[in-house]
Amino acid sequence: MSLIDSHCHLDFADFDPDRHRVLQRCTELGVAHIIIPGVSRQSWSRLITICDQYEQLSLALGMHPMFMHEHQADDIHILTQLIEQHQPIAVGEIGLDFYFPGHDKAAQTTLFEAQIELAQQFDLPVILHVRKAHDEVLKLLRRASVKGGIVHAFNGSMQQAEFYMQQGFLFGVGGALTYPRAQKLQALFTELPLESIVLETDSPDMPLAGHQGERNSPESIPTILETLAELRQETAEHIATVTTANCNSLFGWH
Ligand SMILES: [Zn+2]
Repeated sequence: MSLIDSHCHLDFADFDPDRHRVLQRCTELGVAHIIIPGVSRQSWSRLITICDQYEQLSLALGMHPMFMHEHQADDIHILTQLIEQHQPIAVGEIGLDFYFPGHDKAAQTTLFEAQIELAQQFDLPVILHVRKAHDEVLKLLRRASVKGGIVHAFNGSMQQAEFYMQQGFLFGVGGALTYPRAQKLQALFTELPLESIVLETDSPDMPLAGHQGERNSPESIPTILETLAELRQETAEHIATVTTANCNSLFGWH
């Protein structure tokens, strides 16, 4: 079984003490591939260095809407240069977060549009972070012609899901699914076609049920897989095969 964590912040300092060991355990668990999205300029060079060190890591580069206070006007030019030099697999994570306290809709939208343009320019998929803003994001995507991507931690409606699918998007699901109270999310990921789902942890955030307050890790991918298998009443092997194939075809891996 070859699993992919399609969204993991393994570059964060939380993993400095034992990143190498975490990756060894991932290999033992069958988590063969991990995608690490960028969040802000301050962390890009570290992220690039870490991704260069391990074959199982894939780099994405972008400016996260929750880090607006860190982004500066010039960062988009630096981002353009880094994409040219380091060939990330996607532009991400980018998007709109209208849930974040004190958010500035206009500033987030301008930054998101600029990064969408960058994805078009380099013909790259995008990794999206969207909260309370799916309709706004879909409106912007419809005007652009992005070659799809992943909506990370998707928790929208089935109708919004259908619009995303028409644009070539997959939906990331993680630890939130393991909470008994997450009935709406569980229903959504039971109903979505398996061909549109990818697994993710968003580590070190989003700990699984029973692990609140602990550091999350890509080692929890097999538990997320088991949870999804139980909900959908499909075998874990089948879900592993299809979700991995979904990622592979989005990014052109074989
Ligand atoms: Zn993230």
